[in-house]
Amino acid sequence: MRILVTGGAGFIGSHLVDALMAQGHQVTVLDNLSVGKVANIAHHLGSERFRFVNDSILNVATLEQLVRRVDLIFHLAAVVGVKYVVEDPLTAITVNVRGTENVLELAYKYWVRTVIASSSEVYGKSADVPLREDGDRLLGPTTVPRWSYADAKAIDEYIALAYARKGLPVTVVRYFNAYGPRLDPRGYGSVVARFFTQALRGEPLTVYEDGRQTRCFTYVADTVRGTVLAGTVPEAVGEIFNIGSDREIAIADLARQILALTGSRSEIVLVPYAAAYGPDFEETRRRVPDVRRAREILSFEAAVPLEEGLRRTLEWFRSGALNGM
Ligand code: UDP
Repeated sequence: MRILVTGGAGFIGSHLVDALMAQGHQVTVLDNLSVGKVANIAHHLGSERFRFVNDSILNVATLEQLVRRVDLIFHLAAVVGVKYVVEDPLTAITVNVRGTENVLELAYKYWVRTVIASSSEVYGKSADVPLREDGDRLLGPTTVPRWSYADAKAIDEYIALAYARKGLPVTVVRYFNAYGPRLDPRGYGSVVARFFTQALRGEPLTVYEDGRQTRCFTYVADTVRGTVLAGTVPEAVGEIFNIGSDREIAIADLARQILALTGSRSEIVLVPYAAAYGPDFEETRRRVPDVRRAREILSFEAAVPLEEGLRRTLEWFRSGALNGM
């Protein structure tokens, strides 16, 4: 197939590209390198089945040239990471809403099957765990910028579902805390990256608040497998899927595990949310996916245990990810 991956130079996107290239597809990456890196896709640049276009999803003319030539789109380009969103909500909202609108409008025009990458963040601070795809969302006030990301992604989902109602084959995936090699070592979008960087540098691990908030960390190879299934299984059309592991871990325990794994003598410090993100911050205390729908329709289940995934991630960090930072 001819496949377009927006955001294909990013963390999840580049792993998705690896999987699609390994399957023999023709892959075009559209990425403006805002957080994506050429290094993530450099190993494909020589292949005649691969093309990289350095542009934004906000550039409709470029986007149209690409969409009209493909059979399948994975739309991952977005401003992601709580810290980016909190620092610059306007850019995040514009890119995440308008960009997805552009992609879907063109997918509809050229009738191309599309997978839209959404986020577990859309559940907000709902305490109704495990979080079901059709469960209620619970967001804080609009004065808390964090929730703008959840709403932007939710608008993306509404648009996708509206096109699905018009017959366009489109599927939404909600990612749960993906981690693995190629995480940005500065850790903007990921506590795993932050803790590894801190541990390997002998700096204190900054556990926010009481460290008892939980997440379900999902190894990126699993995230990618679920994404590919969402784009290929016929019954996935018109559906929303949680893509993640359902193994829950408290952030303080994650910190301890990373200390043990790295052999670092860093200490753990508790940092109040206000010190990390400013005064208007709200947090999701528990985030656990209900994985039944993905299991039933996609036959998808996350397979890589946290210990194994963290080991592979550490290997990558040790192989030089921190150089030049
Ligand atoms: N976190 C932390 N220390 C950090 C960065 C994050 O304790 O230095 C916590 C954060 O409060 C959240 C969890 O780790 O509870 C996951 O944060 P991340 O930014 O990785 O993703 P999120 O799930 O918030 O989108």
